[in-house]
Amino acid sequence: MSQHVVTEPERGRGDALLEIHGLCVDYGQGSDAVHAVADADLVLHRGEVLGLAGESGSGKSTLAMAATRLLREPGVITAGEVRLHYDSGSVVDLLEAGAGTLRVLRWSEVSLVMQSAMNALNPVMSVRTQLTDALAAHEPDMSRRARRERAVELLDMVGISADRLGSHPHELSGGMRQRVMIAMALALRPQIVIMDEPTTALDVVTQREILEELMDLRDRFGFAILFITHDLSLLIEIADSIAVMYAGRLVERASAQALFRAPRHPYTLGLLHSFPALHGPRVPMTGIPGSPPDLRMLPSGCVFHPRCRFALARCADEVPPLEASGTGGRVVACWLQHGPEPPPAELARPEPGLEAWAPPAADSRATTPSGSAA
Ligand code: SF4
Repeated sequence: MSQHVVTEPERGRGDALLEIHGLCVDYGQGSDAVHAVADADLVLHRGEVLGLAGESGSGKSTLAMAATRLLREPGVITAGEVRLHYDSGSVVDLLEAGAGTLRVLRWSEVSLVMQSAMNALNPVMSVRTQLTDALAAHEPDMSRRARRERAVELLDMVGISADRLGSHPHELSGGMRQRVMIAMALALRPQIVIMDEPTTALDVVTQREILEELMDLRDRFGFAILFITHDLSLLIEIADSIAVMYAGRLVERASAQALFRAPRHPYTLGLLHSFPALHGPRVPMTGIPGSPPDLRMLPSGCVFHPRCRFALARCADEVPPLEASGTGGRVVACWLQHGPEPPPAELARPEPGLEAWAPPAADSRATTPSGSAA
């Protein structure tokens, strides 16, 4: 496989790079299996920052680990397809790929930055060795000198001077370690970088610095980012689009602006009211009552119904489908948006440049299970 070079893309920004369809992940097997991710559909486009939000335990990290085949036991992928587009036209289903293919594609096409750089970096190896070893493993023809020069270049990209190349991880601050991880993730110029809570453990000043550098790198090199965090307010600042997960299910997906200005799912609304607003008028933080459900004993119907202040009679019995709602490619899994009655005003705000809520077409109503809609 030839090395992917990130230049102005031939197929143009916006093409699908990673398509996740019907992904299901269990922990354990048989009757004791816990359904950690259920029927997840996500598409990451070229150059896009796609945010994946939700409380702890909602399945965000499990989804990313499963999609990249890094899931550890007792995690089991039970269904789905993860199509990676690479090399200007080739497609591979990562769930079917052999170990050799995965080894080539990881880091060169898809790389990963985890929350704890201290755990991800080797504590007894210098930064230089870790960077050059990664280059040597994937680009064996690269000369020793070229590897060293590339290591300097990578550190410079993330704002670390070359004199730290000889440092070991414990000699660096938390922010510097995370920058080293980002440098390693970009070493082979991947198309996709998956970031799982990459700045959560850092103070807010360092977090902001790293995010600004990251967005600058994204603009320069054109890679796409799947950014996983519980912090929806952070995603609204950096993401192009956002998917919200609850109890292993995707409940809403929309452009970041549409999600922020006009949430359609009660859980999204609750998350937005769980963080102080960075822009606009001050609104009281109300949070979400209750706790996420135990995945071993999920509620019937809509899994969010025990915590939902808008719940309808049907919500305890009928699972709402994840379906298109309004315009702009938004999908929502909530009976409020798929029933005949207008949703409450809080969940029907007009989107900037898009239409306000409109009743679903008669055809789509006919496909939903019968029951009281209001
Ligand atoms: Fe609330 Fe019902 Fe919508 Fe679920 S389907 S989020 S319970 S209104």
